[in-house]
Amino acid sequence: MSTIYQPLPEFPHLDASDPGLLGAVASGQARLTVEQGLDLLTSAPLHTLGRYADARCRDLHGDHVRSYIIDRNINYTNICTAKCIFCAFKRTAKDHDSYTLEYEELYQKVQELSDIGGTQILMQGGMNPELSLDWYLELLNGIRERFPHVKIHAFSPPELIEFVNFFDPPGKTLIDKVRWVLVRLKEAGMGSLPGGGGEIFAPAVRTKIGMGKCDMNAWLEVMYAAHSLGMFTSASMMYGHIEGYADRIHHMHMVRHWQDKAIRDFGTGEVPSAIAGDPTIKNPETGGHYLGFHAWPFQPDNTALGRLPHWPTAEDKEAGTPFPGDVVAQLDGSGTKDMDKNFGRRLRFAGSTEYLRTQAVSRLMLDNIYTIGSSWVTMGPHVGQVALNFGANDMGSVMMEENVVSSAGTTYCLDEAVLCRLIRNAGFIPAQRDTKYDILKTHTSDQSPDLLVEDWSQHRTKRLHIESQPEGCDTQPTDDTPITAQITIGQTDTAKS
Ligand code: SF4
Repeated sequence: MSTIYQPLPEFPHLDASDPGLLGAVASGQARLTVEQGLDLLTSAPLHTLGRYADARCRDLHGDHVRSYIIDRNINYTNICTAKCIFCAFKRTAKDHDSYTLEYEELYQKVQELSDIGGTQILMQGGMNPELSLDWYLELLNGIRERFPHVKIHAFSPPELIEFVNFFDPPGKTLIDKVRWVLVRLKEAGMGSLPGGGGEIFAPAVRTKIGMGKCDMNAWLEVMYAAHSLGMFTSASMMYGHIEGYADRIHHMHMVRHWQDKAIRDFGTGEVPSAIAGDPTIKNPETGGHYLGFHAWPFQPDNTALGRLPHWPTAEDKEAGTPFPGDVVAQLDGSGTKDMDKNFGRRLRFAGSTEYLRTQAVSRLMLDNIYTIGSSWVTMGPHVGQVALNFGANDMGSVMMEENVVSSAGTTYCLDEAVLCRLIRNAGFIPAQRDTKYDILKTHTSDQSPDLLVEDWSQHRTKRLHIESQPEGCDTQPTDDTPITAQITIGQTDTAKS
């Protein structure tokens, strides 16, 4: 019997700390309002957030299995027309270290992924006006022909918007044009879209940190266009810079709102079982929608944004001024830079507890999103492991290469064995998944990647938590030769923004 999708009911008269409300949210029977979400983010004890986010996660995904994927993050070009002040990756065409990879180099990277049992490439790049639509189509076709078993998770909304600007496709509206491009990319082999470029949606923040990048509406509408074509996507958020707490909640609310639209407009007409809390069905076939949400703190090294003074400065303390981002941030996204003269001139970093709080609240707010991803690539493997008890059901990726977060100073290396060990030591059974979060292998036997390691003292020393390594690191436990001169491995959907 089919059921028309209805968002969960809200109970705005209840206090965010009401145990009845939190219990109902955790069991998938109630939706938090934005006000309640903000109260939780700013006021709830950390362990309370963890307890309810973990309960919500267990309700959706069961008590036992937590997943990861083997993919490779390929940044095909670093030439970009945007000027995001948080970015340490982009180059202009004139820079001596700018690059666009040749097809053969790209195929070689996919071959190396295939050789270790990888199932997905995450392919993103700068917004490079020199590349034609035919260049992309030939690349996608080439990858699909050579590696039909590897899914292509590629091109974030800002890239799609620039494709429209560069290729001038037919169509009356921007979204018509995006769909025209997307149809062709999809026919050539592109399977799904990563959530890069989400940053913070609120216009006051976005225009300050992401010059030349598409706005919130364009970002969301590109994803909606992809959903209308039956494609799956991810959503992302990068926080811990100039934004206020309300901006984070507004961002989550917008993702949730557009997910409602996608499920209602393109779903099967039935409540997806996973979303309704049936742990035996991992990810049912429905129309296109967001499969996961990935959020991580801003990484400051080598960026203009990272050079801002940290709040509170001595002057802020003397004046007793609040964090400017909080003055400007509004739950409906309507804040303007004029509301505080220091807006955009102070940083407020997010450390480990802030990361865990934000992730836990995202699990509770995003009742219609199946997966919350741990961000070990930015927070380190052990905080990433703890994140599995704060609402995350997915440990991200054993990736062979990452060039964007690592450009901003965060460099961690994990291979499949270490990732499995982290998941197992957190109290779960590690399981390899595919792009759609369907489980490929559940590691219960003594042939599991982590249980096959004979000497962890050797393995850990070489591979775990390597910071600021200049030349890259090997991710294959059986081969001491670095695969790539680039840096590391990481999680899905973080890389290019
Ligand atoms: S974050 Fe992405 S869009 Fe912005 S400058 Fe860097 S590569 Fe370009």
